[in-house]
Amino acid sequence: MAKKENILDRDKVRKIQKIERIILSKKDMYPVQEFLNRKKSGDILDVVVKTILSQNTSDNLRDIAFENLKRRFKDMREILRADEAEVVELIRVCGLPRVKLKRIKSAIQRIIERFENPEELCKLTKDSAFSFLTSIDGIGPKSAEVILAFGCGFDTFPVDTHVSRIIRRLGIADGSREKIYRIVSPHFKNKILSHVFLIYHGRNVCRARNPRCDLCVFRRYCDYFMKSKGEGF
Ligand code: SF4
Repeated sequence: MAKKENILDRDKVRKIQKIERIILSKKDMYPVQEFLNRKKSGDILDVVVKTILSQNTSDNLRDIAFENLKRRFKDMREILRADEAEVVELIRVCGLPRVKLKRIKSAIQRIIERFENPEELCKLTKDSAFSFLTSIDGIGPKSAEVILAFGCGFDTFPVDTHVSRIIRRLGIADGSREKIYRIVSPHFKNKILSHVFLIYHGRNVCRARNPRCDLCVFRRYCDYFMKSKGEGF
């Protein structure tokens, strides 16, 4: 039997449904569709590399590191034979360059060993592709979901720092990002759209410090807001 902590009660599922209705009705608040259109294109290995570069850094620094690689390597498979010291310098800007290079090489190696054409990864079912990606060293559930969404066009719900913060504050779930992903993600029907909306919302309104609750479209359903009102913040 599934553990109780891995199941959301009916009230929380209803809360997700309300939050998702708000997201759909307010999606034009942020450039969600433009973001999705822009991200859907691209070579799967490019997306894998970019996703690994994005771990523990900002989008801006990730993009600089990725552009450095793209200028040097037309095909990311060339990294497997490249001089490691050179690649480390190209990606140093986004932090943890040696760790990230090791992960990038291991991911590319595993993908090309399994698929003659890396794009065939996207022909697997979403669950099989997810299992394969998370079996690669350095690719956790969030990275796998990002790759499946932006590399293959699957509808997924990656849980990053912004998404997990909002989900916790709303009072839907707590605990680690992995746990939140596991129990919350199945209940979002428009997964990637909701994910992108929540990222923008986390950057602009539900910020880590000083959330701007007075501007928030979710506030009547938010435990953090209700509690802070009761405490007279
Ligand atoms: S009401 Fe405040 S804490 Fe709650 S989701 Fe909105 S900004 Fe975040």
